Parts: sequence; C-alpha cells; structure tokens
Amino acid sequence: MNYQYDLFVIGAGSGGVRASRVAASKGFKVGVAESQALGGTCVNIGCVPKKLFVYGSEYSHVVDQAKGYGWEFAKPTFNWATLRDNKTQEIERLNGIYKNLLENPGVTIHKGYGELVDAHTVKVGEELITAERILVAVGAKPFVPDFPGNDLVLVSDDMFFLEELPKTILVVGGGYIAVEFAGICNGLGVETTLMYRGDKLLRGFDEDVRDFASNEYSRIGVNVELNSDVERIEVAGDQKKVTLKDGRTLMFDAVLYATGRVPNTTSLNLNKVGIETTKSGAIVVNNRYQSSVESVYAIGDVTDRVQLTPVAIKEAMALIGYWFDGIEPNFDYDNIPTAVFSQPAIGTVGLSEQDAEKRGYDIDVYQTDFRAMKHTLSGAQERTFMKLIVDRATDKVLGAHMVGDYAGEIIQGLGIAIKAGATKAHFDSTVGVHPTSAEEFVTFS
Ligand code: NDP
Repeated sequence: MNYQYDLFVIGAGSGGVRASRVAASKGFKVGVAESQALGGTCVNIGCVPKKLFVYGSEYSHVVDQAKGYGWEFAKPTFNWATLRDNKTQEIERLNGIYKNLLENPGVTIHKGYGELVDAHTVKVGEELITAERILVAVGAKPFVPDFPGNDLVLVSDDMFFLEELPKTILVVGGGYIAVEFAGICNGLGVETTLMYRGDKLLRGFDEDVRDFASNEYSRIGVNVELNSDVERIEVAGDQKKVTLKDGRTLMFDAVLYATGRVPNTTSLNLNKVGIETTKSGAIVVNNRYQSSVESVYAIGDVTDRVQLTPVAIKEAMALIGYWFDGIEPNFDYDNIPTAVFSQPAIGTVGLSEQDAEKRGYDIDVYQTDFRAMKHTLSGAQERTFMKLIVDRATDKVLGAHMVGDYAGEIIQGLGIAIKAGATKAHFDSTVGVHPTSAEEFVTFS
C-alpha cells in the first residue's frame, strides 16, 4: 500500500512537534495537522505564557522587599495591557520558531482539525490524507463541571487574553493551575480568593508540602477558602454573584475555573475507527504508545497519564527510538521532577512521605523550614520548606520536596541524584553551595 506519509501527526503541541521533526530528520515523510497556533497548549496557553505572568506578578513583591536593601521607588503602577501584549509578542516569536523547527527537516503543515477516517486516513478540512502511521497528540482542554451559570466562568485559556484585569477574582480548584493563577492574580494586585472543595489544596503532594504551601499562599494575601464549593453563578450588574453550597453569596468581577483538564478527543472520531478510550475520553495505549488500532499511536495529555510537557516530549522520543532503532519504549514514570509555579513555588521529585509508607518502605524523614537569607533584610515573612524521604534499608533518597524561592530550579538537580539512586550518605558527603537555600538539602542531620 502506498501512503502519502510515513507518519501523520494530529496536533502540533510539545509531543507532536518533537515526534514530527525528529522523524522527518531521520528520513520519514511527515505531515502534521494543527488548527491553531503551533506549539500547542504549553507554548500558547500554558507553561510558557503562565511563567511569563508569574515573573510579571513577582515584581510587585520585589518593590516592597527592595526597601530593606536601600531602594526607594515611586509608587509602582501596573499596566496589564503591556504584560499581556508583550507576552503575546513573545509567543508569536516562539510560533515562528516552531514553524521553522517543523519545516526545516521537511514536515508539511496542514492547517485545520484532523479527524480520523480509518486506520490509515485522516481528514483535514476537505482533504483526505493517508499515512502508514498516525500519531494523535492533541492534548487536553479545561474541564468545567456542570452547574447553573457555568457558562459565566473563565478557564485558564481565557486568562492570557483578558481585555482588562478584574479587581476581584474567585479561582475555583486546588490543583496546579488554580494555585498558579491565584498567585499570578494576587501578585498583579487582584483581590484573589482561592476556593477548594476539600480540606487541603494540591491533592497528591506530600501532606507537609500541602499544609506549608497553603499557609504561605494565605500569608502573601490570597484568601484561601477550603471545604467550599459553588452551587450557582449569576450575573449581577458588572459582577458575578456566586452562591455557595453552604448558602453564602459572594460577589466577584470574575470567576476562574481550574478544575482539571480532559483529553481533547471529542471531534477526532476515535470510537468510529475502533480506538478504545477511557471514560474521560483518553486514548488507551500499550507500552509502545499504540492504541487498539495498530497503526494509530498516541502520546501526551491525550492519554491522560502524566499531563506534563516534558513527559510528552520523552514519550515522543521513546516512540522515535522504537520506530527507528527498534528499542522497546521503557519510559520511567516514577521520579518525574515537577514544579508548581505558585508563589512560593513548589518543587518535588519522587515519593511523598505518605506514598513511601503506602508502598511499605520503612523511612526516615528529614525536614526543615526557615527564613531564607534574602528575607532577613527584605522584611518579607515568607519561609522555605524542605523535606527528604529516605529508605532506612538501603539509605536511598526516595523523595525530595521543597516550597520556596527557586524550588523549580533546585529540584531539577535533585531529580538527577534520585534517578541515579543517590543515598542519604551521598547527599551528606556533597559539599554545600554557600550561602544558598539549596545547601540545606545536603546538611540534614
Ligand atoms: P489538577 O488535576 O491538578 O487539579 C484539579 C483541581 O480541581 C483539583 O483540586 C480537584 O479537586 C478540583 N476539581 C475537580 N473537579 C472539580 C469539581 N467538579 N468541582 C470542584 N473542584 C473540582 O488540574 P489542573 O487543571 O490544575 O491542571 C491539569 C494538569 O495540568 C495538572 O495535573 C498538571 O499535570 C498539568 N499542569 C502542570 C503545570 C506545571 O507543571 N507547573 C502547570 C499547570 C498544569 P480534587 O483534588 O478534590 O479532585
């Protein structure tokens, strides 16, 4: 059978672009379908613009903190349109880079939604395209629960293009996106309430990290409301009237829902082609990222395993290794370092204390919290938290967790150490970089 392409990829996000461009550079004839801007969620409405907003919002604290170091500034003002538009310009620059990344090795870009027709055919607009292999890498989209007035809420996608910044905002959810946007909004001067239905934010993280982070969010000025949930939302003049399940009513200029993301599979025609999906619409794949239809593969958020850009990229590279060198994919989903860019940030890798116990480890726990040196003069009351989980039997470090400045940067190195099987003795025999917060990880006793 003669196909137009060796590989056709649906979705030019992090995973799709990596798979397309490397496959093309290794000799595959590759096409990719993308209906929106190149780079997917991460580049356009996720990690990258979010981090720029985090940087932008952190300046508000810097102005206060610099006083202790002798700086006096005139009363600072903030211009939302400048940040929003500078961010958009930078993202457009990245879109151009992604276009080059695809076109230089010879990938053909098809503008439009890809829809599966059969095991080897994709429809993009009116065009029918055939390929020996199809890779679905369409990512995920925000999930908003069903309740009266749910059409009045914003989702994270909207936050990047707001005409005006609201004066007050309710952020609903207790995961990555909720705590990150609560920090951004608070830093940009929006009166921010973070509302979560449970009794502790950030389910799945180490319990001490959850407690510590939550206290720090309150300390910097976010109004954290736990054990609360929305019943309905109505328009009230220029504002939103939010009625809670406990009967209270609250008024906000805007309500942001950050209640998870679901696979973006509704218009792909998966079930008609016989591709098995989970209840949430995720494509079920085997160890080779192969769906129930042999020629159709899937990677990244659409498989709803670990929704992180670097994971989608690693999965793309595992597939490349399999297609070109016959290496069985063997990606290790344990010990994935990750950061939550809340304020303060969280960095984590490996097992939490609770997970280590659940897995039957006999553990030693080392933890500390302290005021970082910078804040002795800055006057800020914020504290830093660090924790190590160590297996008593082998002395191996099973998990490292941090809440505080540079947590995302610091945890990357610890990720390598833990992946390499470092023991507590290795940590102890490592010379600290002085004076830093990071050195606390090698001075636990
Ligand atoms: P998460 O799954 O992290 O969090 C969803 C939150 O919404 C949870 O607190 C959940 O509560 C709550 N929730 C779910 N359903 C409802 C409901 N019906 N009513 C009220 N609350 C509800 O999703 P996010 O949207 O924050 O992020 C999606 C994923 O994207 C993350 O898991 C992460 O993998 C990735 N991401 C990574 C980032 C990073 O690396 N820095 C940044 C942003 C996103 P409960 O816990 O009770 O279920």
